[in-house]
Amino acid sequence: MPPKQETNQRKMFIGQAASPGYVIAKTKLIVRQKVVVSQYKISREGTASQIDFFRKGIMQVKREISNLRDITLQAVSKKDSEIFDSHLMILQDPLLIDGVISLIRDERWNAGYAFHLKMQSLIENFENSEGILKERAQDLKDIYNRTLLCLNSSESDFALQEEIEEGGAVLTGFSIGPNMLMNFDKGKVLGLAIDSGSVTSHVSILARSMQIPAVMGLGNLSESIKSNDLLILDGTNGIVIVNPDENDINKYKKQIEVFQNQKLELFTMRDLEPITMDGKYIRLNANIERYEEASEITSFGASGVGLYRSEFLYFGRNALPTRKEQADAYSKVVNQLDPLPVTIRTLDAGGDKMLSLVNAEVESNPFMGWRSIRLCLDRKDIFRTQMKALIEAGSRGNLKIMFPMISSIGELEKAKEIYEECCAELRAEGLSITKVELGAMIEIPSAVIIIEEIAKRVDFLSIGTNDLIQFTLAVDRSNGKIASLYEPHHPAVLRSIKLVVEAAHKEGIPVSVCGEMAADPLSTLLLVGLGVDELSMSSWCIMECKKIIRSVNYDEARAISTEVLGFSDAGSINSFLKKKYSQKIKNLGISSFIIAQDFTTSDRALIKIDDEIQRIGS
Ligand code: PEP
Ligand code: MG
Repeated sequence: MPPKQETNQRKMFIGQAASPGYVIAKTKLIVRQKVVVSQYKISREGTASQIDFFRKGIMQVKREISNLRDITLQAVSKKDSEIFDSHLMILQDPLLIDGVISLIRDERWNAGYAFHLKMQSLIENFENSEGILKERAQDLKDIYNRTLLCLNSSESDFALQEEIEEGGAVLTGFSIGPNMLMNFDKGKVLGLAIDSGSVTSHVSILARSMQIPAVMGLGNLSESIKSNDLLILDGTNGIVIVNPDENDINKYKKQIEVFQNQKLELFTMRDLEPITMDGKYIRLNANIERYEEASEITSFGASGVGLYRSEFLYFGRNALPTRKEQADAYSKVVNQLDPLPVTIRTLDAGGDKMLSLVNAEVESNPFMGWRSIRLCLDRKDIFRTQMKALIEAGSRGNLKIMFPMISSIGELEKAKEIYEECCAELRAEGLSITKVELGAMIEIPSAVIIIEEIAKRVDFLSIGTNDLIQFTLAVDRSNGKIASLYEPHHPAVLRSIKLVVEAAHKEGIPVSVCGEMAADPLSTLLLVGLGVDELSMSSWCIMECKKIIRSVNYDEARAISTEVLGFSDAGSINSFLKKKYSQKIKNLGISSFIIAQDFTTSDRALIKIDDEIQRIGS
């Protein structure tokens, strides 16, 4: 590691505006803990993916080291930066790379353990030598630690460098997962400023639901900051200022005041109907991650829960939740909100929501791996426990169950069959069963292509645009580097949504959108115009969304969306939508709570904040 600068120099970083709000506070660094090497044998078929995983890990470490070299070159000296050149050379050494690959291929060790074996023998050789070689042993140890963290990494490898004091702190670090965030006591985490990740990473979704301002994808912020540095975190515009000057602090103090007033003003919308000027009702539901949130959703004007991400109930535990624990949690939500509908999604673990109790094996492509409904259909014990808990909760109110990541009719039929079997078993136990509506999430292109067959077999559809965009465009939703390619208004995405709406309406069933796109002002109007019946989003976005829906004419929105479907690229769709709607949205004073695609880039964000300050000042 290069020595961190001890000066309190003001520095500004730009990332993605992932959860709105402003904080001025001290920071605490999240650091990687000591690595524990996992050791297991892999199958013959698994060797290719472990080798691939190892190569990708090495590339990632090389990128990290090059970054460090560049920072050291700028901030310290050329001589100090040269140490990293020698680290890069070691990582290119065929003796090391080929040695590890042959341990994976011939001995069938997992990548992390194979690397551990090879490095231990190299380190031992160097330590037993004399002179320069002996000195190089420390370099090898540094590389060993860094690479193993990458090959062995899981959320539990990360921890805070220091305890958070009274009053809370902003957390900064390379990465944080939803599991870790959920484990902090309420009020301790005032904000997140994270090097990796993006707006649709699950930790950002969780931060929004917990109303914790967040900026993601900040590059190497955590390399240039120390625990207890003061910073301004602007989650609305994606800005972080480390060691701010007096001028910054004064500006942002005013901004915090404006934000609080805007929040209060919004509550005038709470009891108004989400209805267009010409009388079209669009149901607005809340997305929740924790069952405790259910009690708050009506105070934000929601008409029900459109997506309860049940996997969050499984996080941060030493054992999987029992049927009773789950039945209690689901029943609480359903009972509390009755007669409002509550849509609970069955376990959607995997991707960036790894459950260490279940997803033990490292996968090279976790978003497309053993996850979600696939995992549930393989681990029927887990699925059936959840299903029975859900069925029990079903008699307490208006529950709907939906299955995530459906990619084929076979998966859907199997999931429905398990529901029926569990109903029968519970009936045999003497329970009285209320049949609930079953729905499918549409978030994989294959499901869109066979949507007519799916629509015939379910009671409702819910489009998970976060994943649908990722899989349609082949753009990893949590990779900040390619965030500009993650384009909700790509014609392929919009035409997919249209196909789903048509198929649902042909079968007389409702269709909802529960991805983050539902709450982006331009997308909201576009989706309404495409005929989507319901939108589901973080509670805080609902009141602003009502404002937007109440300001438009449904017929006009339909005409605009229909015209957009004929466009061949996202750029022209965005310009057209802005021409049609931007002024209207501006007049409504919408800006503070909704994550707008528009304001995630640096220049616009900076212009926006200065405009806002000038407006307050005048
Ligand atoms: C989605 O994919 O749009 C969705 C709502 O589910 P998640 O974000 O939890 O994957
Ligand atoms: Mg999804």
